[in-house]
Amino acid sequence: MSDTPRRADGARVLADLHALRAIGTYKSGVHKPTFSDAHMQSLQWLAARLPDAQLAATIDGIGNVLGTSAKDGPKLLAGSHLESQNYAGWLDGPLGVVYALEAARVLNADPDAKGAVEVASWCDEEGHFGSFLGSRSFVGDLAEAEIDGARDRNADRMMRQALESVGLAGRPRVTAERGRHIGYLEAHIEQGERLETSGLKIGIVTSIVGIWQYRITFTGEQNHAGTTRMEIRKDAGLALAKFCVAIDETFPELCGPRTVWTTGRITLDPGAPSIIPGRAEMLFQIRDDNPAVIARLEEKLRGMAAEVTSQSRIAVSVERIRSGAPAMMNGPFQDAIEAAAKSLAAGKSVRMPSGAGHDAQVLATIMPAGMLFVPSIGGISHHWTENTADADIVTGAEVFVETCRRLLRQAGTSAN
Ligand SMILES: [Zn+2]
Repeated sequence: MSDTPRRADGARVLADLHALRAIGTYKSGVHKPTFSDAHMQSLQWLAARLPDAQLAATIDGIGNVLGTSAKDGPKLLAGSHLESQNYAGWLDGPLGVVYALEAARVLNADPDAKGAVEVASWCDEEGHFGSFLGSRSFVGDLAEAEIDGARDRNADRMMRQALESVGLAGRPRVTAERGRHIGYLEAHIEQGERLETSGLKIGIVTSIVGIWQYRITFTGEQNHAGTTRMEIRKDAGLALAKFCVAIDETFPELCGPRTVWTTGRITLDPGAPSIIPGRAEMLFQIRDDNPAVIARLEEKLRGMAAEVTSQSRIAVSVERIRSGAPAMMNGPFQDAIEAAAKSLAAGKSVRMPSGAGHDAQVLATIMPAGMLFVPSIGGISHHWTENTADADIVTGAEVFVETCRRLLRQAGTSAN
């Protein structure tokens, strides 16, 4: 073995990220909706670089790019995504893909490193057509019928048409070969300000929060706004507004330390100021990584609805329309990130949950998964000003490569 293991080449990582930023540039960020020219060029860019990492490149029938290795020994899968939100930042997605590429370039050619890193770019993580379509396709959780029904939220076209126009229609979709990978590792910008404000360099993701969504409906009585006295009104809109306030007053006593809840679209029916709304509806979301907390809050929500129904002239119903179990990140993966951060980031790391969704939560359904975060300047993302200091990008790359080396070494040892 050589004395100093090969590390990430920081200049090469930054050059790659800038090359991807130059495709579909928008101000200091990028605009790369799924299956746009800029997105497809980015996929081609990656496919052209995978042979440098001793990987054979495939772009499959859902737009995933996969780099596979012929090297013996354990295989670790790593990656992220290359499309962006509309008019958004340059690092959300590409950072994780370039780190994975760098880990593969460093380790796959290193005779002292065990096994290989395989690289993936998952299509449509940003949800232009659906929910985690690329990674769900890979884990075998995406039916053809869902692709048939998927529509572009930016344009009047179906996903099938988009696949046809970029030349991917009819290609097979690659699914995970069971037992091939020891796990999946993904890096991402934090998209929050916790690391920056604490002076930390690496976030070790413990879990990716689950998202539960509800439709809460208020039924009163539609009537004339000028002639119906206040005492006899059944105003569904007013009941909704009071309910929102009641949630905010009640939930803090029952929630966990990082629970968040948000009211989304509110609709009043008919929604004209001369008519008392007879019906109102709100979309409501709760995120937490503890299902017990969610269960407690949901029970409270239903109890509050029953109370309003029995004590007022308005009927309230709560319907759960989405339940997303949280994804727990693998313990030994967290330990490996922490050990790498200890040697290459002066131990400036912290274990933390992810409040945003990532492909790692999908991969975690079939294999051990881990995630690491690097700081986001000002906590900004999904905006073209999103950024991370160059030095932090380089530190993140070094920790990522070292984490991959450790995970492969551990797997190689336990297999012998
Ligand atoms: Zn992302």
